[in-house]
Amino acid sequence: MSDENEPVKTICPYCGVGCGLKLSPGEEEGDVRLKPWFDAPVNEGALCIKGGASTEVVNHDERLKEPLIKEDGEFREATWEEAYDLIVSELERIREEYGPDAMGFFGSSKTMNEENYLIQKLARRYGTNNVDNCTRMCHASTVWALRTSLGMGAMTNSMQDLEDEADVYWIQGANPGEQHPIANSQYFKQAVLEGATVIQVDPHANKTTRSFDIHDEDNRHMHLQLEPGTDVPLLNAVIKTVLGNDWHDEEFIEERTEGFEHLRETLEDFDKERAAEQCGVPLEDIEKAAEKYAKANNAAIFTGMGMSQHRCGVDNVQNEINLSLITGNIGRPGTGVNPLRGQNNVQGTCDVGAMPNVLPGYQLVDDDEARERVDPGAVHHGGEPPDERTGRQRGQATLRGGTGLPGGPGHLHDRDREARRRDPAGDLVGRAGRHGHQHGPPGPADARRRRRAGQHPPRPGHPL
Ligand code: SF4
Repeated sequence: MSDENEPVKTICPYCGVGCGLKLSPGEEEGDVRLKPWFDAPVNEGALCIKGGASTEVVNHDERLKEPLIKEDGEFREATWEEAYDLIVSELERIREEYGPDAMGFFGSSKTMNEENYLIQKLARRYGTNNVDNCTRMCHASTVWALRTSLGMGAMTNSMQDLEDEADVYWIQGANPGEQHPIANSQYFKQAVLEGATVIQVDPHANKTTRSFDIHDEDNRHMHLQLEPGTDVPLLNAVIKTVLGNDWHDEEFIEERTEGFEHLRETLEDFDKERAAEQCGVPLEDIEKAAEKYAKANNAAIFTGMGMSQHRCGVDNVQNEINLSLITGNIGRPGTGVNPLRGQNNVQGTCDVGAMPNVLPGYQLVDDDEARERVDPGAVHHGGEPPDERTGRQRGQATLRGGTGLPGGPGHLHDRDREARRRDPAGDLVGRAGRHGHQHGPPGPADARRRRRAGQHPPRPGHPL
């Protein structure tokens, strides 16, 4: 029999690192006590300041505990029966009057896989692909680049194998020192202490720069402080440098890639000097960084929203993938292209298909066989995937008076005040289910402990 005072294991509700923590009831009703979860696979009990403050939301004054329905411009509390009746009748009315594509469904990257799976299923059962989640604002472009080039829109490696095996950390458009503190302190910094090299590519000197003490005179780590929006020319210059010096991996390219000759041809007339000028980074620094990456035993790329949140977000990430492919830095521990995700379950929300263009498992919505696989016998065909602009317009319209479905962290936000009704969603204490974290499949659970105990093979010397 379970003891209701026994701490419950859960996941920090903030970033995609997925740190585990334990919660138990406090002395006062509604109070929650946070305790370390020492065996948590990602963080082994450690939390950053955000995780440490995560229980503040639980007993917040504005936490929603009952559904709200707006009448005469004011919200009133409603029963769940009323709320569900309204949802169903409005969905039916809208579909009847305007067709299924007049509806939009928004999953939440702070809720569980099961719930997001159901919301995309609900949308598609109603006959529309108008379903999305906050990845639209963060890593949708990364997911698409990874999916089209590598078949899966997720980190290619686990945090543990990256810590254990990567000799070069190429961190572009990401600031893990600030945004993913436990990944930075528990994994990246540990690797650096054992000899790994950091190449930061970012317009800003930030907490990540300071956390690795990267400075101009540093011969080991580098910060390529490029002009905003020049990631593609910088990566083209890196790739051309690699090819020009024969640092590419011919065997890997031959066996595992396609389109290499096309890539080479497109760079034939590419002017590296001009690109370096455009980037505002000395060409010799770009070439040095290219050499460090290409000559590493294992080099890993970490990519963040500084790469994805551009008109050319897919191209930015595609170029990172190309760099990893031509040097053979993918498909083994300590390598790959690894997006650092923003919300705690944005990875899982995408994995289960709460996106307009993909079904669960990143199967394309216009693939008839895939549709049959995920929903055998369903008669609907599903609407067209909305373009981004249309989706945004519809979202705004919904918030101005449409019907909202349960989601979010269970608090009333400014945007919710415009909606016609708002249902409380559970948060880190209000639901059970599964998350999909950015760190991918766990490595050996006790690898770090083994290394700390001196039982792990030493890291090869850092290159250059
Ligand atoms: S690193 Fe991310 S998941 Fe871990 S405690 Fe901090 S905010 Fe939470």
